[in-house]
Amino acid sequence: MAGLDPEDFSALRSLGHRMLDDIFDRLEHLGEGPVWRPMPPAIRASFQADLPRTGTDAENIYTVFQRDIAPYSNGNPHPGFMGWVQGAGTPIGVLAELLAAGLNDNCGGRDHAAIEVERQVIRWTAEIMSLPTDASGCLVTGSSLANFISVIVASRHHAMTYRHEGVGASGLVGYAARTAHGCLPRAFDLAGFGSDSLRLIDVDADHRIRLDLLARRVSEDRAAGKTPFMIVGTAGTVDCGAIDDLAALASFAADEGLWFHVDGAFGALACLSPRYRSLLNGIERADSLAVDFHKWGQVPYDAGCVMVRDARLHAQAFAQTLHYLQRADRGLAGNAPWFCDFGPDLSRGFRALKVWMTLSHYGADRMGEMIENACAVAAYLAQRVDDDERLERLAPVALNIVCFGIRGLSDHDVGELVKDLQESGIAAPSTTRISGRLAVRAAIVNHRTTCGTIDRMLDALLALRERYLATP
Ligand SMILES: *Cc1c(COP(=O)(O)O)cnc(C)c1O
Repeated sequence: MAGLDPEDFSALRSLGHRMLDDIFDRLEHLGEGPVWRPMPPAIRASFQADLPRTGTDAENIYTVFQRDIAPYSNGNPHPGFMGWVQGAGTPIGVLAELLAAGLNDNCGGRDHAAIEVERQVIRWTAEIMSLPTDASGCLVTGSSLANFISVIVASRHHAMTYRHEGVGASGLVGYAARTAHGCLPRAFDLAGFGSDSLRLIDVDADHRIRLDLLARRVSEDRAAGKTPFMIVGTAGTVDCGAIDDLAALASFAADEGLWFHVDGAFGALACLSPRYRSLLNGIERADSLAVDFHKWGQVPYDAGCVMVRDARLHAQAFAQTLHYLQRADRGLAGNAPWFCDFGPDLSRGFRALKVWMTLSHYGADRMGEMIENACAVAAYLAQRVDDDERLERLAPVALNIVCFGIRGLSDHDVGELVKDLQESGIAAPSTTRISGRLAVRAAIVNHRTTCGTIDRMLDALLALRERYLATP
């Protein structure tokens, strides 16, 4: 047999139809099962098998999937999932993934429809964030890579020779709040500056970067012969959802001649809500921006996005001229610039289809309502915490993340209780540290989470608390 296609498609076709039915059955009845359950050791061990020398029927493989993989998934589509900051996906997103896989386009470049779909998505993203319509961008795995690309573009804008000669003793330094996501120091590390070159500035009581301390640090660095090049503002910190004063940061960056980057991994999509847009004022002045469609945008993983105001600078940081990737005036090698000119990836999947289909299907207004609804559910949780003397809120709630303590329990017991709660299958919040204390962290990102889900989570949490108090 030469190729890998079946001789007769009919059996695979009916299996495919059954798979689709099972997927939608699962989505329709999501809330009935547990959020998450630990994988039994025997099933875990079954994934240590030797490489199969001969193949297995697709029916059998699907049986294994249904029995050993699907029941032990991450749980983020379930309404009770409120840990970390994760999107829930949508039925239309599932179909988009299927359609994209059917085409199997390579979106590194060339002249085909997928490229136009991605360009459309980038223009829509610019519109959502009020960036110029000729801003450039590309879809990437996530904000970790989007932030990294932004650091690269920002630094090369400052020192173009660095692309060829390396960082050496460039002395380039950047600034972000101490609460900035861990991928930002990592981006500075990956870029060769070293993570210490990202100066972490203390925050105020609302968890926002302190502008006075920022200004002081910039002038100290200049006095010490360093070259400040970049300021990062966060629109929605990962621990408690705080939003830096982006307008003030934009003005400061402009005065100092610094690149202004916004890490809006989840929070930037709050621009879709007329009610929350003003909290993000200044985002439209960003030189570059990272945003994830796979978090609050509910697009299936993975779907991150980097935006750069000046398309020319974006391309300067990544574009190459290579004989085997020659651009043509027509034919399949036409349609420059290619998306491989805007990031480190050459081969790229058709991520744009699921973003395009999600925004097309729901429309920006409905997406904005979904985001407002998540904030309303978070406000309800915050109110229940504030009204209950057994609980204690540990951070302001700017958007959709509520961090709270459990009175009477040690940090250790709070950590154990959250693991119990996750293993109960009722709800899955996560934890973080706020001002040194272990906090239960409920990030309401999931479009399926309601006030009823919050009640079930808190009832289970408070019942567990009683148990911890009763057994010293
Ligand atoms: C999630 C997150 C990131 C990292 O994004 P990934 O898509 O997980 O790579 C960066 N910054 C913030 C504020 C985040 O919430």
